[in-house]
Amino acid sequence: MANNWEKPSLEQIEKFEGKDVLSAPQFSKAELDVIMNVAAYYEQALLEKRILKDMEGKVMASLFYEPSTRTRLSFETAMLRLGGTVITVAESPTNQTSSTAKGETMHDGITVIDGYADVIVIRSPQKGAADVAAQAAKHPIINAGDGAGQHPTQALLDIYTILKEKGTLQGLKVTLLGDLKFGRTVHSLVDFLAIYGCELVLVSPEELKMPEEITKSLRDRGVKVEETSDLKKALSTSDVLYVTRIQRERFTDPAVYEKVKDAFIVDEEMISGCKKGMIILHPLPRVNEISVGVDKYEGAKYFEQAYNGLYVRMALLALTTGSVVLFRPHRKTVG
Ligand code: ASP
Repeated sequence: MANNWEKPSLEQIEKFEGKDVLSAPQFSKAELDVIMNVAAYYEQALLEKRILKDMEGKVMASLFYEPSTRTRLSFETAMLRLGGTVITVAESPTNQTSSTAKGETMHDGITVIDGYADVIVIRSPQKGAADVAAQAAKHPIINAGDGAGQHPTQALLDIYTILKEKGTLQGLKVTLLGDLKFGRTVHSLVDFLAIYGCELVLVSPEELKMPEEITKSLRDRGVKVEETSDLKKALSTSDVLYVTRIQRERFTDPAVYEKVKDAFIVDEEMISGCKKGMIILHPLPRVNEISVGVDKYEGAKYFEQAYNGLYVRMALLALTTGSVVLFRPHRKTVG
């Protein structure tokens, strides 16, 4: 991927300037292609140890009102690698340190932060929070996960990883496993998989099925969607297995969580009859839905997937702020 990208036109790049990244359905195939190419360009730049100045002088506000490791740190690293700087709020609903604790509304808080930053990355436990933020802000808002709603930047890095590992997505059979009800990553990912012409297999406990409005809209678009509980059979014909964590924090009844938490476990026995070349992805963190023994399987790509998040988030930050310096040479480091 890194040395196999196509330079987008200036016009294609400029279309992103000032735009928010709120949900998967906002993107066309042509826009996805631009993001993938710019991400691959940044991957190459980092592999070549270039010092980038694309976002020099710009500030990213990183607002995380729900726990995060990869998303927050990869966004912050992305900004730093692009030569920009970062201001951060990292808190959880039970440990608030910002004026949210004083009862400040999202609208007021964002209106103020918008005056400090050139781009705002936000994660919230509330579905729709990024849309509220986008109404308040003049600068681009990037949704880094809104409750059980959407997680478009994760889905973009998932697509990037599949393209990198398989070369194409066209015609691939992708099995999505786990918490398809509350898992926001899969809610965004299915849209992109549909755009790329994938076939979908959905495997989950009955209580955690993909919401009906999502499966209906996929089928209405002509996407082949199969729902099954026979994971082993699904894996014998799948090109990609995408595993998700049961989202304990979204359950109102802990007894239901206890009942479903270990419904499906991907272990060495489970993948023993999988299709040759199948890759396994997971947005992480994993709890015990993939046993550690699977990590040595050559198709286990979930840690590489997390690294790819850096390149995709660099692309999103630079594109939305009109900062992609694709037309000027970069200063090179030594060694
Ligand atoms: N890290 C992903 C998210 O924030 C997946 C997960 O938490 O299970 O949605």
